[in-house]
Amino acid sequence: MIRVQIIACTLPADQTRALNRESGRVYSATLVHHYRVYRMAGKVWLSPRKHDRVLKAFCGPSFLHAHSYQAAQQDFYEACKTAKALKQRNPLARYPYKRKYYHTTTWKNTGITVVEGRMRLALARGHEPIWVALPDHLAMLPATAFRQVQLVYSHATKRSCWHITLDDGLVPQPTPHTGIMAVDLGEIHPAACTNGAQATIICCRALRANAQHRNKKTADLQEMIARCTPGSRRWKKLVASRKRLQAQTDSRQRDMLHKVSRAVVQEAQAMQAGTIVIGDVRDIADKTKTDKRLSRENRQKISHWPHGQLRQYITYKAAAVGIRTELINEAYTSKTCPICGALNKPKGRHYSCSACGFVGHRDNVGSTNILSKHQTGKLAQMVPCKAITYRHPVRRASVVRSDKRHVAGVSQNPHLISPSANAGLVRLEESPRL
Ligand SMILES: [Zn+2]
Repeated sequence: MIRVQIIACTLPADQTRALNRESGRVYSATLVHHYRVYRMAGKVWLSPRKHDRVLKAFCGPSFLHAHSYQAAQQDFYEACKTAKALKQRNPLARYPYKRKYYHTTTWKNTGITVVEGRMRLALARGHEPIWVALPDHLAMLPATAFRQVQLVYSHATKRSCWHITLDDGLVPQPTPHTGIMAVDLGEIHPAACTNGAQATIICCRALRANAQHRNKKTADLQEMIARCTPGSRRWKKLVASRKRLQAQTDSRQRDMLHKVSRAVVQEAQAMQAGTIVIGDVRDIADKTKTDKRLSRENRQKISHWPHGQLRQYITYKAAAVGIRTELINEAYTSKTCPICGALNKPKGRHYSCSACGFVGHRDNVGSTNILSKHQTGKLAQMVPCKAITYRHPVRRASVVRSDKRHVAGVSQNPHLISPSANAGLVRLEESPRL
C-alpha cells in the first residue's frame, strides 16, 4: 500500500528556504517561458516534453537534482491540466499565471538512496547531498519502498517537514468477515454506524466548533483587511494571519477526521463487517447555493461539512484492513419512519413518528434505513436497535481559553484555577472505547 509519512525537518531554515526558492524559480521560469513562446510564436501551446528541451537554456544551471528540477516544471503543467478540467464547469477558472517565489521541492525515487538508517537526497552534480536521519520504523524498510520525498512548508507551524511517499509492498488481504455495517454521515455527529444488532454513534462536537471558529475569525480578519490599503505593512500582517488561521484550523480538522474515520473502521472490525455501506450525501451537501430551503446559518453549516474528506479517509483506512466500502443514495433515509414508512421531519436529534408513535435517535434511524436499503432495496424494513453506544474519539479535556485568562486578572491567580484546568494542556486525546 502507498502511504505518506510526515517527519519533522531538522535542516536549518536557510537551507530549506534556499531549496524551495530554487524550485519556485524553476516553476516561475517554466511559466514565463511557456507564455512567452505562446505569445511570440502565434499561440503555440508547448507540451511538457518539447518545452523541456528549450527551457534549460532559458532557466540556467540549477543546484537541484535533474529530476527535482523536472518535477517543479511538471507541476506547472499539472496545474494547467487541473485548470482545463475546472474550466469545463467554471468559466472563471484561470490557467496558472502567478509566479511563485517558493515551491515545494520534490525528489523522485531516482534521487533517493537509503544508507544505514539515513536517507540521502541527491542534488545536482558537484553539490553535497542532503542527509536525513530516519525514525526506526522507516529505517527498517528496503530502499525500494521510498517512492518520493517532498520538502513541505507548513503555514500553521511555520516549519518545514518531509512528506515521504512509501510503498510498503503489503497487499491487504480481504477480511474473512461477511457482515455489513451501514454508516450515516452527519453534520452534528460525524458518523452513525449500525449492523442491525448493534449501533454506535461517533461524536465529535469539536469538528463543528472548529469550522465555526474559522468562519467567525476569518470574517473578522476580512473586515479589517478591507479597511487597509492593499500592500501596506498592516495589510500584509493581516493577510498572513488569515493564512495562518486557515492552515491551523485545517490541520486541526484533518486530525479530528483521521480519529473519527479510524473509530469507524474499528467499529466495523468489532462488528465483523466485510463491507461498509456509506450514505452518499453529496447531493444535499453540495447544493447549498441553489437550495434555498435552508436558512443562511444552516447553509453555512452544511457547506463547511467535510463529508467528502471523511468518506475518503474511511475508504482508505478500511481498504488497508481488507474491508470494502460502497456508496448508496441516502435520500429519505433520515426522514422515513423505520416502523411504518411514514415521512416525518425530525427535530433536533430526536425522531418521532406522528403516524405510529415511534421515537428514536435520528442518526440511528438514518443508518438503519441505509442498511435496510442496501439489504432489501427498500426503506423501513428493519427496526433500529434500542441500545446505542456513544464513542468520543476526540475528547476535548477542559480547555483553558487563552482569551478568557486575562479577564480582570482573576485566573492569573494560580489558586483560582480549578484542578481540571491543568488538564487543558492535553487538548485532544484519544479516549478509550466507551
Ligand atoms: Zn411510524
